[in-house]
Amino acid sequence: MRAKTSSVGVDVDSLRHYYRIHGLDEANATNAAWRVGVPRFMQLFAAVGIKATFYCIAEDLDLPGNAERIKAIVEAGHEVGNHTWHHSYALTRIPASERRAEIAMGRRLLESAAEAPVVGFRAPGYNTSAEVMADVVASGHTYDTSVFPCVPYYTAKAGVMGWMRLRGRQSRSILGDPTVLAAPRDPYRAAVDDPHRKGDGLDVFPVSVAGGVPLIGTAFTALGMAGSVAALQAALALRRHITVEFHAVDLISIRDDGLDPMLGVQPDLKTPVASKRRTFARVLSILRNRTRVERLDVLAAERAARPGRRWS
Ligand SMILES: [Zn+2]
Repeated sequence: MRAKTSSVGVDVDSLRHYYRIHGLDEANATNAAWRVGVPRFMQLFAAVGIKATFYCIAEDLDLPGNAERIKAIVEAGHEVGNHTWHHSYALTRIPASERRAEIAMGRRLLESAAEAPVVGFRAPGYNTSAEVMADVVASGHTYDTSVFPCVPYYTAKAGVMGWMRLRGRQSRSILGDPTVLAAPRDPYRAAVDDPHRKGDGLDVFPVSVAGGVPLIGTAFTALGMAGSVAALQAALALRRHITVEFHAVDLISIRDDGLDPMLGVQPDLKTPVASKRRTFARVLSILRNRTRVERLDVLAAERAARPGRRWS
């Protein structure tokens, strides 16, 4: 099996969400994810020559300058995706009316600010459910990319200990056993009653994992250049489609950008931007040379036009 297509996404989580994850006072949170991270990713994508998707949180449009920035994303040829209204990590547990509002209002607000269609959905923290998926469909999305069947990620997001475990897996995880994952790891149509099984519902593009290594910015930073390239090569051989995921903060750092030192609890924020950028550029260049890098809204539309088409 050999990946023929790939897609690249950036979750634009503003810094306040990192303060929340780590239980810190978010009074010191700045708009650096949007003000610094987003433009750096746009520059990187322009340099490599690819179009990507920026999954945005609608409430961030209230921060100064972000309404202009989301338009700039669209003008550069990128897609805007829905990362909900307020980025509630409890999306699967809040009352149905609130859940629907998070999904539907997120999309509506982002569309009106971006002045472009918003058809893709990614749930905060990758927590999805049959109910979430039903709301994603009902509110007009054409695809979902909330599925991330990767055990190291779940430990990593718990904090530093998890991140260390991710690093500890560095060498063996490339050759590791991938069967820990219950959900399909190539794109699939989800079952209506279970987003983690195949069925007749919405197209799902899982964030790619190969040999236990997730193709996300945090992992690339932890693995460094050689490890990241090896992980990508494994994924290219194993997967039908590659979905790479970054976060806007992946291209900022505490020292380079004068951020609150408390954010050092997120260890990759201590890695210099230049080093991270070099690794990301290498990964994306390989992806561009080996696959057709395409926006997920485009791939979802192609898929809809040819329902029988297989991901191969
Ligand atoms: Zn997020």
